[in-house]
Amino acid sequence: MRRTLFTIAGVSAGLLLAGPLTAQTQPPAGRGNAGGFRGGITIKDGEQCPPGTTEVRPRNCLGPEMPVPSILDYRPKSTLVAPTHMVPKAKFPVIDFHGHPQQLLASTESLARMQASLDSLNVRTMIAADNVSGERLKRVMDTVRASASMKDRVRVLAGINFNGVGPGWAEKAIAQLEADVAAGAVGVGEIPKSLGLTVRKPDGSRLKIDDPALDPIWDACARLNLTVFIHTADPQEFFKPLDYTNERWLEQALFPERRYPQDKFPSFETLATERNNLFKRHPKTKFVTAHLGWHASELGVLGKLFDENPNVYGEVGAVLYDIGRQPRAAHDFFVKYQDRILFGKDSFQPEEYPYYWRVFETKDDYFDYYRGYHAFWKLYGIDLPDAVLKKVYYQNALNLLPKVPTAGFPK
Ligand SMILES: [Zn+2]
Repeated sequence: MRRTLFTIAGVSAGLLLAGPLTAQTQPPAGRGNAGGFRGGITIKDGEQCPPGTTEVRPRNCLGPEMPVPSILDYRPKSTLVAPTHMVPKAKFPVIDFHGHPQQLLASTESLARMQASLDSLNVRTMIAADNVSGERLKRVMDTVRASASMKDRVRVLAGINFNGVGPGWAEKAIAQLEADVAAGAVGVGEIPKSLGLTVRKPDGSRLKIDDPALDPIWDACARLNLTVFIHTADPQEFFKPLDYTNERWLEQALFPERRYPQDKFPSFETLATERNNLFKRHPKTKFVTAHLGWHASELGVLGKLFDENPNVYGEVGAVLYDIGRQPRAAHDFFVKYQDRILFGKDSFQPEEYPYYWRVFETKDDYFDYYRGYHAFWKLYGIDLPDAVLKKVYYQNALNLLPKVPTAGFPK
């Protein structure tokens, strides 16, 4: 019996890296081992329980008696009864620094639809970070200006085209940027993650984020007082082996294109180093690192980045799961770096904004996040003081984007 158990465990261990965790992957029955707790399996100090079992007492592993649900089907309902404060509308008007309204900017009718959503959330201003330029940017600004109620509530960042970086590229890119500013662009971005991950130079080599050929455009941004909004890399787990210790296993299994196998892509560390070199080499250019630079799970690293680079700011889009799982540390971090953090949402899903308001404004315990595949854990409110909320919601963005209309924001 004992030998059978370990054969099954051995098969499971083989499947561990290859197959999904399903009800078909049966655990060892865990019965009949006289050495263990209620017939479980005994392990030595420092050993892990075999697959399909869990440590029920020190060094004693037991497997469930019935088929184990997959991680998709196990949906326990919390029995916690605690105060809840839903926050459908932000306490102060908000600038969404990381907007992707895309086709909502196509007509005054679609703008009106977006306005209804924004009003219900208390988002006053949408910054479109759709990486547009040239005729497209002009069309968007024409549509915005034609809307009596939205003309002050949408602004656009200018995109930069990184194709063909080499002799003559910078002059062309700067001329295009100046034209985009004349057409109404208020900043630059979102510099996409493809810079660093996939964009190639004409000779086929990877265009590094800190490539000196790009220096003139970053200097031009400083000269034109344009803040640069830049997305670098992706969650660190996407660069790591996809085994059952990976916190984003489910997401990468659902969306295989989010994986960055290390034989084909640069590492997260390489990309972060290139990005930090860029920040350091251009101290007069202001940069906002999207998604808190994917350092929200290591606030010490992010704090060091802010400390060493006074020209660097961070935006919170799509990393709420990391902020809301460390409410005390995140509270202190936001208070300490209150001048450096900006609200942004990324993908435009009106029903998801209130999760941010609730994390930032309440001290609620243990509530659901909006995407189970991002984070299988719960969130907690970080209870920010009003003065900090105002900075994160709009004041920092107004400072970084001085051409955004200030009407509608408290003084
Ligand atoms: Zn984005």
